[in-house]
Amino acid sequence: MTRSDNARVEFVDLKVQYAAMKDAIDARIRDVLAHTQFILGPEVAELEQRLAAFTGARHCITCASGTEALLIALMALDVKPGDEVITTPFTFVATAEMIVLLGATPVFVDVEGDTCNIDASRIAAAITPRTRAIMPVSLYGQPPDMDEINALAARHGIAVVEDAAQSLGALYKGRRSCNLSTIGCTSFFPSKPLGCYGDGGALFTSDDALAAAMKEIRTHGQSGRYHHTRIGVGGRMDTIQCAVVLAKLEHFEREIARRIEVARRYDALLAERVPDLRLVAVRPDRTSVYAQYTVMTPRRDALQTALRARGIPTAVHYPTPLHRQPAYTRHATSALPVSEKLGTEVVSLPMHAYLDPGDQDRVVEAIRGALGGAPAGARTG
Ligand SMILES: *Cc1c(COP(=O)(O)O)cnc(C)c1O
Repeated sequence: MTRSDNARVEFVDLKVQYAAMKDAIDARIRDVLAHTQFILGPEVAELEQRLAAFTGARHCITCASGTEALLIALMALDVKPGDEVITTPFTFVATAEMIVLLGATPVFVDVEGDTCNIDASRIAAAITPRTRAIMPVSLYGQPPDMDEINALAARHGIAVVEDAAQSLGALYKGRRSCNLSTIGCTSFFPSKPLGCYGDGGALFTSDDALAAAMKEIRTHGQSGRYHHTRIGVGGRMDTIQCAVVLAKLEHFEREIARRIEVARRYDALLAERVPDLRLVAVRPDRTSVYAQYTVMTPRRDALQTALRARGIPTAVHYPTPLHRQPAYTRHATSALPVSEKLGTEVVSLPMHAYLDPGDQDRVVEAIRGALGGAPAGARTG
């Protein structure tokens, strides 16, 4: 593929991905149009079986979105008014939003400055008799210190819900994200590492009783047709969306490998050669699927402006930690300085499995142009 020098670099390239998988995706969608079981059709169960096998969890239950997965997980755990759920303020709003929606209180614990994930060593001090669950987020695609978090939860008899909306496919000590705790929740939002063509999500657990509860909650709390044994939601994932994910799942491992390759190349080209730039650390006992490739700089505005001028999109995940959001300030009970500083410094670069090295070089050159730093002498790849 030849490209002109000023062609726009895509932040996430869904068009190139579709072109690469068009026949399989179209065929899967046509199957659904032919059988017309648009709700809970055969592709739903097929995807759930495939994803359970992929993660190693005993059960997978698809649902309407990643947000809905978090809600259903907390409902299955019977989180209610008066309860507290420990989580990170440095995340997408849905994480804390579902806690508050159920009348419970999010208790924010600050993050690590290098991984941007919840700092497990600070969680013990936040546990009270009202704590019902810990909800860590595997931010940017990398799980946090799950062993430490699970051990703490076990000691207090509470559940751990991994918000794995960004990390499906990541490994933690040889195990897959979504299968690292009581319940794992993921999202198939189009730009996530495994995306559908609308909204979609999934819940994972190896607890039979929780799986049964989550399946009932997904469909209005019914344990049999029109027999409602609990309060639930309208939270199913469309058959067509499951069909899209099934087609993409065939290529997912290859795409993850490519994302990691792209990230390592960014790491090599940027590490220690650009002043005022820090990279997100990935711990040696786990992997990231790089839902975002994020860097940190105190000169973020200058960086974003310079890249925009060269047709290179960037995004900030996330500018304002949740305890500083207008709707959540009453839950700001302690200082969270690491999250607040990260909010001013993080910026995500173009990242997808189809990013070509030439485009990646342009991104790196533009960063050097904006922040200074040695010219690209020692390129890898
Ligand atoms: C995307 C995301 C969600 C929400 O997923 P949706 O499918 O968009 O509802 C929740 N938490 C995190 C960390 C996310 O990145």
